[in-house]
Amino acid sequence: MIRLKEKADFKVSLADSLFFSLQGEGATIGRPSIFIRLMGCSVGCAWCDTKYSWSGPPVEEVTIAEILDFCREHEDAQVVVTGGEPLESPQFPRLIEALHDAGLRVEVETAGHVPPSEDVLERVDQWNVSPKLKSAQIAEEKQPETLDWLRRVKEPYLKFVVHRADELDEIEAVLDKYGLDDFPRNRVIISPGGKAREQMEHRLLPLAEVSMERGFRFTPRLHVMLWGDKRGV
Ligand code: SF4
Repeated sequence: MIRLKEKADFKVSLADSLFFSLQGEGATIGRPSIFIRLMGCSVGCAWCDTKYSWSGPPVEEVTIAEILDFCREHEDAQVVVTGGEPLESPQFPRLIEALHDAGLRVEVETAGHVPPSEDVLERVDQWNVSPKLKSAQIAEEKQPETLDWLRRVKEPYLKFVVHRADELDEIEAVLDKYGLDDFPRNRVIISPGGKAREQMEHRLLPLAEVSMERGFRFTPRLHVMLWGDKRGV
């Protein structure tokens, strides 16, 4: 009984308060989702749209019990655990365990440089792994050492934030580097960069066309189209 209470009282540090919205990008774009944005990221992408999540005091600390209450208010919504970089958070494994035990569908968004433990691998329903291209200007040690673990998960997706059509050649090189040449192309998602609608709009058609040519999937970033550069949506 005490153990149950300990689990329920466990606190998670957030960069945004819990929010309910539509998944804005990737394979489940448009799906009603609860977002848990964990605090902290050391990757340092030049074009990061959530720089406020990198460090500093969290916006809020919520208990597992409060998170599960919020999920109950939004029946049938899935849960998206994002950041920051969720796998850098020491709170991540216990959060995933609690969401899984509650029977919730869980997606995780990660840059992929911190390999997940086996327990976590099994408990997450969908992995959205986003290796960074040169435009992100990150240090080499922040690139994944391996992505072999993607072959052992139920629903793996690779997502690349792209600003120019010629970056698709770089994506082919990344697939080659990680031995993922045979990774299903319809699980490689091209996502146009841009924090604001006007920064993204002009990239949509050119990037959609080159994605089609290569057999990659393309999704716009729906939350940017709907709400622009706004937090908590
Ligand atoms: S990994 Fe994600 S949160 Fe971290 S800097 Fe890059 S885009 Fe931002």
